[in-house]
Amino acid sequence: MSSKFLPVDNPTKSFWHSRADQFAKHRTTPTLPAHADVVIIGSGYAGTTTAYYLMKGSSTPLNVTMLEARDVCSGATGRNGGHLKPDLYYNTLSFTDKYGEKGCADIANFEYAHIAAMKELIEAEQIDCDFVLTRAVDVHLSPEANERCLRNYQAMMKNPYITCKSDLQLLTGEQAKVTSKSEDTEVAVSYTAGQMWPYKLITTILKRLIDKYGLNLQTNTPALSVSKLSDGKWEIVTPRGSIVTSKVVLATNAYTASVDSRFIDKIVPIKGICCHITASNKSERTPHLSNTYGIRNDHLADGDYLINRPDGSVVVGGAKKHIFPFKERFYNNVDDSSLIDGTSDYFTDDYMQKRFYTWKNFESKPDYIWSGILGYTDDSLPYVGEIEPGKYIIAGFHGHGMPRVLLCAKALALALETGAEVEGIPDSFKATPKRLASTQNTILKALGTPTAKL
Ligand SMILES: Cc1cc2nc3c(=O)[nH]c(=O)nc-3n(C[C@H](O)[C@H](O)[C@H](O)COP(=O)(O)OP(=O)(O)OC[C@H]3O[C@@H](n4cnc5c(N)ncnc54)[C@H](O)[C@@H]3O)c2cc1C
Repeated sequence: MSSKFLPVDNPTKSFWHSRADQFAKHRTTPTLPAHADVVIIGSGYAGTTTAYYLMKGSSTPLNVTMLEARDVCSGATGRNGGHLKPDLYYNTLSFTDKYGEKGCADIANFEYAHIAAMKELIEAEQIDCDFVLTRAVDVHLSPEANERCLRNYQAMMKNPYITCKSDLQLLTGEQAKVTSKSEDTEVAVSYTAGQMWPYKLITTILKRLIDKYGLNLQTNTPALSVSKLSDGKWEIVTPRGSIVTSKVVLATNAYTASVDSRFIDKIVPIKGICCHITASNKSERTPHLSNTYGIRNDHLADGDYLINRPDGSVVVGGAKKHIFPFKERFYNNVDDSSLIDGTSDYFTDDYMQKRFYTWKNFESKPDYIWSGILGYTDDSLPYVGEIEPGKYIIAGFHGHGMPRVLLCAKALALALETGAEVEGIPDSFKATPKRLASTQNTILKALGTPTAKL
């Protein structure tokens, strides 16, 4: 365990935190309880939805305490792009190579199921979080990106186990340009996706859990260590005292090494960047985009992602060509109190006008730019399940948690309640001893980082 992997003080402020109120610093009780049935470390999407399914699904009232190192939902979930976009085809060849046709399909089908699951959750709980069911358009901007897209798309279409194929629309030439509003694309793919205000989603669920089910939320309370006691229980030490529990859940994503040193180099903190851009033009209404976007500049990791807001503004993340070639800017980096060199100019310098022809007559500027820490894993997939008796993990969402966390949390909650193994998630997501023992690390290779510059 190492404090070097804990979240830092004074994070940059994200657009999603612009409406944060006193709840951000909520402590349900003035002192930390000494005991709990379950302790969840982390108040992001993973910790919160695990608590939700656990407390709602339990036949008897459960005493659950959640520890959060900083303000509520101040990690990746409060700083992301708000884009719920399943990866249905773009990694088909590499996933098939690693996990076979069925294993690859399990991942695509699982991610696709998140669209309906999220809609169901938001409707069932009547959560006001600007959720929009939409279509994502992947825009490819180089011959290599086009080629990778088409090869993977065709492989997906041939996979007999993938069930959502009819949702995808392949667009080429003029159709690609019109649908994407980009002059420069020859190949685009559209499919169902979602967008939302993630902080509102999470804080609404947390408030319900506190009011209805008695969740004890303790913000600004970092877990400094998690140790096994002689009776098999777990002691979590914080600067405000210790808490003892039978079951502890590490929902700590990029920061997991702060509470379990086995995850150093397995879940690596990767610093990323996002911004909110507004448009203005005295004579015209704002150019509202009708889709969300994945913008792929090359066939490796140079790309951006974008969602639109009802006022015509957009949230954009990426700027990867200013990040990934420079290891010191992003790798093993938990510092979201500063931005990343080169990225502000990237988003300020007519970012939208260069990419979308409907924005050409508009002035625009980012009013929020922030950084955030993604939890990339050594094999690109999350770790979910029981890793020691009574110690569970749901972490390492590899910068792609929105279409992966919810149903992992539902499955983990069931495993926590029954004591059985986690089921109902792709086998490749399970935190098996084999994965834990592996010393491979494919992160830099996957990012296309030129090793000469490391
Ligand atoms: C800039 C950025 C843009 C992104 N954009 C997208 C996107 O558009 N779509 C998408 O699918 N994914 C996106 N992601 C990834 C996505 O946000 C994550 O996969 C997802 O939010 C993970 O949720 P989580 O709960 O696991 O992690 P987090 O939200 O990071 O939650 C972990 C929490 O644990 C707390 N914590 C950690 N260690 C401790 C400790 N020792 N003690 C107490 N508390 C602790 C942290 O403070 C944090 O609040 C983005 C991420 C970033 C950073």
